[in-house]
Amino acid sequence: MKSFIPVSEPWLTGKELEYVQDAIKSTFISSEGKYIEEFETKFASYVGRKFGVACTSGTTALILAFRALELEKGSEVILPSFTIISCALAVIYNDLIPVFVDSDMKTWNMNPDEIERKITSKTKAILMVHTYGFPCDVDRIVKIAQKYNLYVIEDFAEAIGSEYKGVKCGNFGIISCTSFYANKLITTGEGGMCLTDDKKLAEKMKRLRNLAFIPEKRFLHYELGFNFRMTNIQAAIGLAQLENIEERIKKKIFMGKLYSELLKPLEEKGVISLPPQDPQHKNTFWMYGVLLKNGTTADEIMKKLYEKGIQTRPFFYPLHLQPAFEKFPWFKKDNLPVSEYLGKYGFYLPSGLTLDEEKIRFVAQSLIDILKKNQVNYLKNPTLR
Ligand SMILES: *Cc1c(COP(=O)(O)O)cnc(C)c1O
Repeated sequence: MKSFIPVSEPWLTGKELEYVQDAIKSTFISSEGKYIEEFETKFASYVGRKFGVACTSGTTALILAFRALELEKGSEVILPSFTIISCALAVIYNDLIPVFVDSDMKTWNMNPDEIERKITSKTKAILMVHTYGFPCDVDRIVKIAQKYNLYVIEDFAEAIGSEYKGVKCGNFGIISCTSFYANKLITTGEGGMCLTDDKKLAEKMKRLRNLAFIPEKRFLHYELGFNFRMTNIQAAIGLAQLENIEERIKKKIFMGKLYSELLKPLEEKGVISLPPQDPQHKNTFWMYGVLLKNGTTADEIMKKLYEKGIQTRPFFYPLHLQPAFEKFPWFKKDNLPVSEYLGKYGFYLPSGLTLDEEKIRFVAQSLIDILKKNQVNYLKNPTLR
């Protein structure tokens, strides 16, 4: 029988079951119980931040972060077009205006050269997102933020364990947000967290995630909160996942390096681009992306890989082209060619922690074979080289 290789599969080989059973036996199955605080403390300390505020997802972590900063209604937030819609939703749901910036063809991250052109008197924050595990140009983005007195909020959901010049991603925002969805480096099933060094912000986020209850008087509320509480059971899974995080990172880097080694000949021929690598930074290859440069679209190649039992995913569809945003007064037709190119010609290969060397070799060889057959096509249409 032909094997099937999923694009990502969670790796649950530690004490997940033991801790979940313990959480259930304790009867603390909602959002009270020892695992929440232990997971928050240990994850924050792993990244190198003072406070962690666990919540229900990466999306709600971003919503919480923007809510806690209390930016004036109608303020503009700069963010990459090439990212997940959660980033824009967090801005929009807080009555702020997203301003989309193009990416850099080399790093697939927000291009700092484009940021300054989009700053106006209404700009109040930059949302920095590390795409597919490779850190953003942090120094330049932080410098621009300082120059214009803007907050930096960081989304490191795809870069847990990645490092920018030896410092872990998650250290660069006044609030840094991550996700623990099943395909992230560590997972709680569904879940997320905000990290900060600011005690007041941490307390405020804890209050806001819990319907803005206050300890002094039950059922009296001064603010509009949310129910974004993580459960003790989810935190139990997260804690077990955190215990073997270094092994996870090792596996991811092994996968990334092996793919790169096997696919290098295609890159040298100019048929594809491989994920960014820079010895100054640590890429944990959340997902191993390839960008086609032979004129065939990602959809065509992904279909052929699927026929061989290999599941893949397209790159993000650019946010500045999302139909869901067209009805908003702030929406304007923009031309962000790099984001659009990435969205059309990029996709990622199976990148889960359950992959072994044999599977990685099979995937890489399958891609090479498919693209070889496409050479004819390539010679006929070399415009996009
Ligand atoms: C996964 C992801 C999110 C959303 O996380 P959810 O837990 O699925 O809500 C947000 N930002 C980035 C960059 C992500 O990769």
